[in-house]
Amino acid sequence: MKLEGGCYCGAVRYVAEGEPMMKAQCHCRECQYISGGGPNMFMLMPNEGFSYTKGAPRKFARSDLDRPVIREFCAECGTHLVSRHPDYPAAIVKIGTLDQPGLFGTPQMAIFTIDKQEFHQIPAGLPTFHQMPNA
Ligand SMILES: [Zn+2]
Ligand SMILES: [Zn+2]
Repeated sequence: MKLEGGCYCGAVRYVAEGEPMMKAQCHCRECQYISGGGPNMFMLMPNEGFSYTKGAPRKFARSDLDRPVIREFCAECGTHLVSRHPDYPAAIVKIGTLDQPGLFGTPQMAIFTIDKQEFHQIPAGLPTFHQMPNA
Protein backbone atom coordinates (compact mmCIF):
# COMPACT_ATOMS: atom_id res chain seq x y z
CA MET A 1 0.00 0.00 0.00
CA LYS A 2 1.01 3.60 -0.49
CA LEU A 3 0.40 5.99 2.36
CA GLU A 4 0.79 9.73 2.19
CA GLY A 5 0.62 12.18 5.01
CA GLY A 6 2.06 15.17 6.72
CA CYS A 7 1.84 17.52 9.65
CA TYR A 8 -0.99 19.83 10.64
CA CYS A 9 0.50 22.94 8.98
CA GLY A 10 1.70 21.17 5.82
CA ALA A 11 5.39 22.10 6.13
CA VAL A 12 6.46 18.46 6.37
CA ARG A 13 5.11 15.73 4.08
CA TYR A 14 5.98 12.06 3.67
CA VAL A 15 5.21 8.98 1.66
CA ALA A 16 5.30 5.44 3.08
CA GLU A 17 5.10 2.54 0.63
CA GLY A 18 5.03 -1.15 1.37
CA GLU A 19 3.17 -3.60 3.52
CA PRO A 20 2.61 -2.57 7.12
CA MET A 21 4.75 -4.78 9.40
CA MET A 22 2.45 -4.06 12.33
CA LYS A 23 -0.74 -2.10 12.98
CA ALA A 24 -1.33 -1.50 16.64
CA GLN A 25 -2.44 0.72 19.44
CA CYS A 26 0.20 1.49 22.03
CA HIS A 27 -0.75 2.27 25.60
CA CYS A 28 2.74 3.11 26.88
CA ARG A 29 3.28 6.14 29.08
CA GLU A 30 5.58 7.73 26.51
CA CYS A 31 2.92 7.57 23.80
CA GLN A 32 0.40 9.20 26.11
CA TYR A 33 2.43 12.41 26.08
CA ILE A 34 2.30 12.53 22.32
CA SER A 35 -1.21 11.21 21.65
CA GLY A 36 -2.87 13.61 24.07
CA GLY A 37 -3.53 10.87 26.61
CA GLY A 38 -5.19 8.09 24.64
CA PRO A 39 -3.54 5.07 23.11
CA ASN A 40 -1.34 5.90 20.14
CA MET A 41 -2.40 4.38 16.82
CA PHE A 42 0.50 3.53 14.56
CA MET A 43 1.66 1.48 11.60
CA LEU A 44 5.17 0.08 11.33
CA MET A 45 6.22 0.78 7.72
CA PRO A 46 9.40 -0.50 6.04
CA ASN A 47 12.27 2.02 6.07
CA GLU A 48 13.01 1.55 2.35
CA GLY A 49 9.54 2.75 1.39
CA PHE A 50 9.50 5.76 3.67
CA SER A 51 10.73 9.20 2.69
CA TYR A 52 10.01 12.82 3.39
CA THR A 53 8.70 14.59 0.29
CA LYS A 54 8.47 18.13 1.65
CA GLY A 55 10.40 19.83 4.41
CA ALA A 56 12.28 17.91 7.07
CA PRO A 57 11.29 17.03 10.58
CA ARG A 58 13.05 18.12 13.69
CA LYS A 59 14.31 15.14 15.71
CA PHE A 60 14.43 14.49 19.40
CA ALA A 61 15.94 11.69 21.45
CA ARG A 62 16.33 11.66 25.21
CA SER A 63 19.99 11.93 26.19
CA ASP A 64 19.45 10.15 29.52
CA LEU A 65 18.50 6.81 27.90
CA ASP A 66 20.90 4.21 26.47
CA ARG A 67 18.95 3.40 23.33
CA PRO A 68 16.35 6.11 22.98
CA VAL A 69 13.53 6.27 20.51
CA ILE A 70 14.05 9.05 17.98
CA ARG A 71 10.99 11.23 17.58
CA GLU A 72 10.43 13.15 14.35
CA PHE A 73 8.07 16.11 14.38
CA CYS A 74 7.32 19.36 12.58
CA ALA A 75 9.31 22.23 14.04
CA GLU A 76 6.61 24.69 12.90
CA CYS A 77 3.39 23.19 14.23
CA GLY A 78 4.70 20.49 16.55
CA THR A 79 2.86 17.57 14.97
CA HIS A 80 4.54 14.28 15.82
CA LEU A 81 4.89 12.27 12.60
CA VAL A 82 7.18 9.30 13.05
CA SER A 83 9.21 7.48 15.70
CA ARG A 84 12.26 5.27 15.15
CA HIS A 85 12.98 2.50 17.61
CA PRO A 86 16.55 1.16 17.80
CA ASP A 87 15.24 -2.45 17.74
CA TYR A 88 13.04 -2.06 14.64
CA PRO A 89 14.33 -1.00 11.23
CA ALA A 90 11.10 0.74 10.37
CA ALA A 91 9.22 4.00 10.41
CA ILE A 92 6.59 4.06 13.14
CA VAL A 93 3.99 6.23 11.43
CA LYS A 94 1.33 8.04 13.48
CA ILE A 95 -2.08 7.32 11.98
CA GLY A 96 -3.40 10.81 12.72
CA THR A 97 -0.90 12.26 10.24
CA LEU A 98 -2.16 10.20 7.27
CA ASP A 99 -4.11 12.07 4.61
CA GLN A 100 -6.62 9.23 4.92
CA PRO A 101 -6.48 7.86 8.47
CA GLY A 102 -9.18 5.37 7.50
CA LEU A 103 -6.56 3.37 5.58
CA PHE A 104 -5.40 2.12 8.99
CA GLY A 105 -8.47 -0.09 9.17
CA THR A 106 -8.30 -1.56 12.65
CA PRO A 107 -5.40 -2.39 14.96
CA GLN A 108 -4.09 -5.97 15.08
CA MET A 109 -3.12 -5.76 18.73
CA ALA A 110 -2.79 -3.55 21.79
CA ILE A 111 0.72 -3.26 23.20
CA PHE A 112 2.25 -1.95 26.43
CA THR A 113 -1.00 -2.42 28.31
CA ILE A 114 1.22 -2.37 31.41
CA ASP A 115 0.78 1.42 31.21
CA LYS A 116 -2.89 1.36 30.21
CA GLN A 117 -5.13 3.99 31.82
CA GLU A 118 -8.64 3.22 33.00
CA PHE A 119 -10.08 5.51 30.32
CA HIS A 120 -8.30 3.65 27.48
CA GLN A 121 -10.54 1.44 25.37
CA ILE A 122 -9.47 -1.85 23.81
CA PRO A 123 -11.81 -3.45 21.25
CA ALA A 124 -13.28 -6.75 22.43
CA GLY A 125 -11.22 -9.73 21.31
CA LEU A 126 -8.13 -7.74 20.35
CA PRO A 127 -4.89 -9.52 21.34
CA THR A 128 -3.17 -7.57 24.11
CA PHE A 129 0.40 -7.60 25.31
CA HIS A 130 1.90 -6.20 28.50
CA GLN A 131 4.86 -4.93 26.50
CA MET A 132 5.90 -5.94 23.00
CA PRO A 133 4.50 -9.27 21.69
CA ASN A 134 7.93 -10.89 21.83
CA ALA A 135 8.95 -9.45 25.21
ZN1 LIG B 1 3.74 21.44 10.57
ZN1 LIG C 1 3.92 3.62 23.00
